[in-house]
Amino acid sequence: MIFFIQMLFSRNFYEFSLRFILLFLVILFSFFLIRGIFREISQLKRLGQMKSEFVSIVSHQLRTPLTAAKGYLSLLLDGTYGNLDAKPREILEKVFISNERLIRLINDLLNVSLMDYNKLGFKFERFSFENMVSGIVDELKIEAFHKNLFLAWEKPAKPLPQIWGDPEKLYQAILNIIDNAIKYTKQGGVTVKIEEMERGEMKKLLLTISDTGEGIESDRLESIFEGFDRGERMSKLHIEGKGLGLNFSKKIVLAHHGKIWAESEGPGEGSTFFIELPVNF
Ligand code: ADP
Repeated sequence: MIFFIQMLFSRNFYEFSLRFILLFLVILFSFFLIRGIFREISQLKRLGQMKSEFVSIVSHQLRTPLTAAKGYLSLLLDGTYGNLDAKPREILEKVFISNERLIRLINDLLNVSLMDYNKLGFKFERFSFENMVSGIVDELKIEAFHKNLFLAWEKPAKPLPQIWGDPEKLYQAILNIIDNAIKYTKQGGVTVKIEEMERGEMKKLLLTISDTGEGIESDRLESIFEGFDRGERMSKLHIEGKGLGLNFSKKIVLAHHGKIWAESEGPGEGSTFFIELPVNF
């Protein structure tokens, strides 16, 4: 603009030509600069998408054989091929737990890569949340047992209404949290319960997962849901985590118009995670 105005107010032809050339050069430079920036942005977007697709393909490829291994291990542990002695059973249980961890790690990665590109398709249906949670507790019993922890399921006194949601995604979201409760507890154990609540016209289910574990500092109670917050303490104590599980769980709960939050009296005092889900939305 300045060059253009200066050009209009030139005193002679020489000054006019000089300013005209300057203006032309500035426009040319800006054009190439802006085009370069746009190209760079689209390149970055393409790279991001490629990275996400790569993670997604690799995760699928890894998950399939691990799931097959899990099936065979379950059959062995259930005694389908005969009773096992204590020692081989103990070793197989360890293999089973490690395999489970790997599957969950891959699921986390896959979910986050899908989340990034809003490809996480939801399949909503009406189902029993209560049965789903008790199934997860059953599945994680072996892990808790191995760490000498109790994993208590406080069955609701009366049957709870079915909810409207995506059972597969909610399963993964809740599994993350109960699995964390076991992972971050050394002594005592984990208690899981669901209550029905009436909020005005709305019926809701409140799932509570409380542990007697390592607890959470008050300034991290919110940031742990934002992804990649593992805390200095946990990074030292548990090397394998990535700090992605809770972020995924939060996104899933929000997609169900629910709420998720954590409470803890601080380090060493245990933690309680709450998930509130509307029966209908
Ligand atoms: P990860 O467990 O892989 O690190 P998460 O997103 O599941 O990732 O959890 C984020 C962080 O929140 C953990 O690193 C840990 O510091 C903290 N956390 C989660 N659950 C618990 C729990 N039950 N007790 C104590 N800390 C927890």
